[in-house]
Amino acid sequence: MKKHLLVGVTGIIGSGKTTVCKIFESLNTPVFYADQEAKKILSDNPNVKEQIIKWFGKSSYIGNELNRKHIAAIAFNQPQKLQLLNGLIHPLVEQKFTDWALLQSTTYVVKEAALLFESKSFLSLDAVIAVQSNESQSIERTVKRDQISVKQVRDRMKNQFTQTQKIALSDFVINNEAGELLLPQVLHLHHFFSI
Ligand code: ATP
Repeated sequence: MKKHLLVGVTGIIGSGKTTVCKIFESLNTPVFYADQEAKKILSDNPNVKEQIIKWFGKSSYIGNELNRKHIAAIAFNQPQKLQLLNGLIHPLVEQKFTDWALLQSTTYVVKEAALLFESKSFLSLDAVIAVQSNESQSIERTVKRDQISVKQVRDRMKNQFTQTQKIALSDFVINNEAGELLLPQVLHLHHFFSI
């Protein structure tokens, strides 16, 4: 069976992971967006829904959509519930990624995930790229993109490793600070992984 190189892309909230992955896609590299897949599983998988309602109550869904505010409020005060939730979702996302990767025909594929290290899913990858950005700029970009407050972004960041930790655990770094060009950095890695 042909083995693809499995490459992860991670970084703090708003660092530019998706922006970098869109460039990989423009080079015909398939990208698996783990956070989007997790969202799909949360809204589409009936067993998951049943379990979440059991743990977080009936207000966990508004129609088919996960009530993120409700879940976040409970998870903020009871971190063990956040662990339960992650323990339920991460193996399902992993399975989807494995199945998806087998269908690709390129020399390497990319998996984008904010919690690559926190979820331990980096263990099944061959290499990890951290997208680095100035923290206050990442927050500012996220505030603008999602129309939320600085405090809301900082609260989300509290559940994640810091940029320094993510970089220390990564094999490669793409610098997405103001004034840096992304395309040459992505091209360099693309050639490296394509050999
Ligand atoms: P999240 O963790 O929230 O999913 P992310 O790490 O995927 O975020 P992006 O969505 O790629 O980050 O970028 C955050 C915002 O900053 C987006 O609106 C994006 O267009 C913008 N952005 C990213 N990189 C740059 C850049 N080099 N110059 C200008 N804007 C940028």
